[in-house]
Order: sequence, then structure tokens, then C-alpha cells
Amino acid sequence: MTVRVRMAPSPTGDPHVGTGYVALFNYALARQRGGKFVLRIEDTDRGRYVENSDQQIIETLRWLGLDWDEGPDKGGPFGPYRQSERLPIYAEAAKRLLEAGHAYYCWCSPERLQEMRADQTARKQPPGYDRLCVGKTREERSRLPGFDPTPVIRMRVPDHDVPLTFNDMIRGVTNAPMPDDQVLIKKDGFPTYHMAVVVDDHEMEITHVLRAEEWISSMPKQLLLYRYFGWEPPRFAHLPLLRNQDRSKISKRKNPAARLLWFQEEGFLPEALVNFLALQGWSMPDGREKFSFEDLIANFDVERFSPVGPIFDINKLDWMNAEYIKELSDEEFIRRAAPFLPGPGQEASLLKLAPALKTRVKRLKEVCDQVEFLYQGKLELEPSMFATSGTPSPRDALLAAEAALEALPAEPFDVATIESALEAVRSEHDWKPGPMYGPIRIALTAKTKTPPNFDMLAALGRDRSLARLRDAIAILAA
Ligand code: GLU
Repeated sequence: MTVRVRMAPSPTGDPHVGTGYVALFNYALARQRGGKFVLRIEDTDRGRYVENSDQQIIETLRWLGLDWDEGPDKGGPFGPYRQSERLPIYAEAAKRLLEAGHAYYCWCSPERLQEMRADQTARKQPPGYDRLCVGKTREERSRLPGFDPTPVIRMRVPDHDVPLTFNDMIRGVTNAPMPDDQVLIKKDGFPTYHMAVVVDDHEMEITHVLRAEEWISSMPKQLLLYRYFGWEPPRFAHLPLLRNQDRSKISKRKNPAARLLWFQEEGFLPEALVNFLALQGWSMPDGREKFSFEDLIANFDVERFSPVGPIFDINKLDWMNAEYIKELSDEEFIRRAAPFLPGPGQEASLLKLAPALKTRVKRLKEVCDQVEFLYQGKLELEPSMFATSGTPSPRDALLAAEAALEALPAEPFDVATIESALEAVRSEHDWKPGPMYGPIRIALTAKTKTPPNFDMLAALGRDRSLARLRDAIAILAA
């Protein structure tokens, strides 16, 4: 049997972090078993459809490093892979259910359904469709109140023998609540999620469904549909929901990290995020926390999931991202940081600064502020910025640094040469580091939190360094 798995995002906005989380494990299973990984866009809810979000989903999942074998952008033998392009398939399936008596037309108007629900709530009855339309022809129904000429198609849930338990690959025997007569085809002719997901998972020969925990409650209606169609269901694994610190489900409204794009915007490396996501509710047999995607594939086992929803800990991700950043080559680091730089140019200087930056930033976004000085012309300095106490005075520190650096050749003007020249001056005068280096930092950047002075001087080069020191000296009174 060829393993066929899928991710089935709904294009209702930019992708949720859970989409990346679930996709990652489906991808790992496909790769491990030499199977196929399918991307299917579930765009049947036209009310929630957001223009371009399928494109955004595709791009963001690619950024994460996931690669599917079949999908709307790639084609494949089971296409089309966008549900809105498969309406005749669902219509045909609904017809089969109608003919077999497993589904029926329902002409109840939205107003009638609303009244029915309000009434059920008032009487403390369980919610659910009251089956007014069951067994009625259009004519019969039209004589009753709350008739809408455009019907929906509902599934007929039997009174007995509904599959309320199933065997989940992570959770074992799992219970789910009794469903009511669900809508399968809406008034607009589009299928609901339950109808489309069952038809497509069957048609696309999906063997394993790894999806979020929130779909457990949908299992009875989906299993009923498999039974009605006479199809073998795939195997199911419901992955734990990612949770906020307060254990609530991660939502875009409450937590910026619910958006997959947020991680890209902040400058997390996709390989660090993949590693971090792989640790949510799942663990390596040897307990290792830092591992590559290849390691995940080699060790992946669905049964190693803990069903308890993991708490999303961004501090841990920051730590992990910093570790991955440190391991990048200087060239690769600058390439990855490029979208976060204040502007174009400065490549040579950035490369000199890379070793210092790599150990200082947790997110690539922080690079911008750290390198801003390279992109600035004359800085806006005020004497008050230099207020330090002790010896030397800021002016004397800058004069001494200027003289020491002027004595150096333009090449090599590197960290080691600069450090020994400035340290020689400092020990000659027996100055403390603070009063000596604080003013240099301000003169180079107009900031107090920066990369180390030696690295910044090397990155600026001799001429630009001397010019900045002189600009600062000029505004400090003798
Ligand atoms: N379209 C559903 C979603 O967005 C897919 C659920 C499933 O995988 O069955 O979550």
C-alpha cells in the first residue's frame, strides 16, 4: 500500500500556525514511507473565502520547506485539487445518497432554523435539526411555514448504530458526540466540509489523515458517510491543539504567533521553526531537542505524540532560532538577513560584522537596528548623549582613539588590529573600559546598544570610522 497523506487548508486568511504544524507531520510520514503528500485547497465556504489566501498558504508552506507531490499548483492524477473545481463530483455523490435514502432535501428557511434553535435552547433541549422536511415532497413542505424554495441536502443520521467511537492512532479508542442531520450540500450548491472531505479523501486515495484535534467531534458524521458510500475509511490521527500559556487554543485574535507569517516577519529561520513545531506534543526517542527535518523523518512515529495540547513557548523558539543562526556561515547569514536590512548595499561591511551579529540576535528582525549605523551618513549627535563620568572625558577618549586608528593602515583594518591599537592606548593611560569605549560607541552609532566597537570599526573601515570620531569630537567642547 502506498501511503498517501494530505493537508487540506481552507483559504480563509493567511495561514494559521496549526496548518504548518499539521502539514509538517503529514509530510514527514509521506517521506518516511516513500508515499505521496497532497495539497488540497478546501475552499467550499464561500462566506469565509479570502482572495489570494490560497497563494499565501502555498508560499508560506514552501518557505517552511514543505514540498507536496500533488496540488493545485502542481497538478497530479487525482485533480483538480481545489474543491471549488470539483462541484460535479460532490453533486454526484449527494445524488447517490438521496437515491439510497441516506440524505434528503430540506427547504427550511434560515429564519425557521433560527427559531427552532431558540426554541430548543429555551426548552433546554439538545440542539439539532428537527427533521421537519423528512419524508415530505416539495409540495407538502411548501404548505408549511418557513419554506425556502432553494433546498439544502441533509444527511439522514440513523437512530441506532451510529459510529460514536473510533480508533485514533494517537488516542486509541476515542468517543465523539451524536451528530444531527448535517447539511451536505448548501443552498449555493457547494458541499459542506464534511461532505467534501470524505468524498475527496476517498477519491484521492488518502490512507492516513493526520489533522487537528478539533475534528474529533466530526468523526461520527464522516464515518457514517463512509458507511453510506460503502468506502473503507483512512486511518485517523488527531494531533494535539497548540495552546497559549493559559491553555486556550492559539488563535489569531489572541496571539500573533497564531499566524504562520508572523514567524517569517520576525525573522525565525524556517528550519528552526520546523524543529520547534516538531517538538510540540511530539518527541525524539532519545529526548534530543535540536534535530533536523531528516532526523525527524528517520525517527517519526505517530504513536510518539502526547495527546495533551502543548503550550507554545516562544522563549524556547527564540533560543532555538539563536542556535540555528549561530550555525549559519557568514555569507548565508547575510543572505537570510537581507529582507530585514535597512537598505541595499554595504555587503562587504555586513560580512565583516556577521560574526558579531550572529551571536547577538535571536530573530533576524533585530539585525536592522544593529546595522543601521552602516547605512547612515552624518549622525545627529548632541553633546548630552556623551555624558559619562570618570576618566577619560568623552572628548579625550575620542581624541585618543582617533590618533590610534589614524596610525593604522587602511588594510588590514580588522578586529584584531583595531583591538590591539585601542587596548594599547587604554593600558598606557590606565583607563577603565567604560569611559573609553562608551563615547566611541555613541560616536559610531548614536546608540547605546550595538555590536562590539571593534567589529563596528572594522565594518565601517578606516576612513568612515575616523570621520565619525571627528564629527563627534567637533561637537564636544574642549
Ligand atoms: N479544511 C479543514 C481545515 O482547514 C481540514 C480539516 C481536515 O484535515 O480534515 O482545517
